[in-house]
Amino acid sequence: MAARPVRPVAEIASYHAHLYFDPGTQREDALAIRAAIAERFAVRLGTVWDRPVGPHSRAMYQVAFAPELFGTFVPWLMLNRRGLSVLLHPNTVNQRRDHLDDALWLGEPLALDGEVLPSADGEAEPAGPVNTAPTLAP
Ligand code: ZN
Repeated sequence: MAARPVRPVAEIASYHAHLYFDPGTQREDALAIRAAIAERFAVRLGTVWDRPVGPHSRAMYQVAFAPELFGTFVPWLMLNRRGLSVLLHPNTVNQRRDHLDDALWLGEPLALDGEVLPSADGEAEPAGPVNTAPTLAP
């Protein structure tokens, strides 16, 4: 078996948090968390999808954030996820590995359809322009 190279954390261009919800029973909580995030963190909030999309098996929205925010945003999610399942994955050059092998979950892990994610290396996705204007401390 070949030795695996040690991967530097600099591979991580950004992170995504995906907050999953049941549209029938958890949508209000999901949107309340989303509003609270917008008030506290300089992040990029994605579309609220009320149906499964891409590799995601349940309604969800994405929060893209810079590596510098991990130390405050992830603990905040631990305390404020209101029972929702949250997928946290790095964005490196390999999306399938990011989602399936290198992710962590808060709450109940859900199924992901890795087949729709490219298995070949590509460009690591940056967090992108911030679309929140936080005014409150985390
Ligand atoms: Zn993602």
